[in-house]
Amino acid sequence: MRLFDTHAHLDFPQFREDRAAVLQRLRDEHVAVLNVGADLRSSAASLELARTHPFVFAACGVHPHDAKLFTPDAERELEGLLRSGAVAVGECGLDFYRDLSPRDLQVRAFRAQLRIARRLGLPVILHERAAWGTFVQVLKEEGPCRGVVHAFSGDEARAREIVALGLHLGIGGPLTYPQNDALRQAVRTVPLDRILLETDSPYLPPEPLRGKRNDPGKVRLVAERLATLRGMTVAELAEATWESAGRLFAVSPQF
Ligand SMILES: [Zn+2]
Repeated sequence: MRLFDTHAHLDFPQFREDRAAVLQRLRDEHVAVLNVGADLRSSAASLELARTHPFVFAACGVHPHDAKLFTPDAERELEGLLRSGAVAVGECGLDFYRDLSPRDLQVRAFRAQLRIARRLGLPVILHERAAWGTFVQVLKEEGPCRGVVHAFSGDEARAREIVALGLHLGIGGPLTYPQNDALRQAVRTVPLDRILLETDSPYLPPEPLRGKRNDPGKVRLVAERLATLRGMTVAELAEATWESAGRLFAVSPQF
């Protein structure tokens, strides 16, 4: 069985001590990874991980938390990174929950990255928290794009809206959290080929590992839960989501 974790941050300091061992285990277990940049530095680190591991791919982008740093110079630098081997733009989007950058600057950086993605023909990795109305409005105004709403934890209505926008849902650890019945209902109803698996490692560990560091190998726990919800075997679910990820990011991982 092979699994594709479409959202992880293996360059983060939580992996400083044992990054090589974690990567070796992922290779042995046939877990492919899209490593997602959150700023210019982690975008460059993601590219380096991808360059040295044939089952790791890189997304380069600036997280809404850092939107205030998205100057014209930063935008040029990001485009340079994207042109050197990235398979997606992101993560980008809106976070009105923590509000670490002013909202108008978040919207500006979000729009700019959607336009870069369009220009380069790349899919986008989208982050949305407590900003749903503005998020959907910006996506509609900027026009069709391909990509994934990462760490989706909404209900059926929001899932339908994402599918209608032509986007995928990134499903991770929150699927296993006791309070998320609406999310579990939502993932039963969307077309299977619009669902991607993810971990958001080192964050959002699935049950029963909450409170621990997450890693892409734990994507299996998400796959098992989703397979049960969809009435499939985990092998079928793993293969279907593997193919969807390969198609969206135009990659074929080698182990
Ligand atoms: Zn992330």
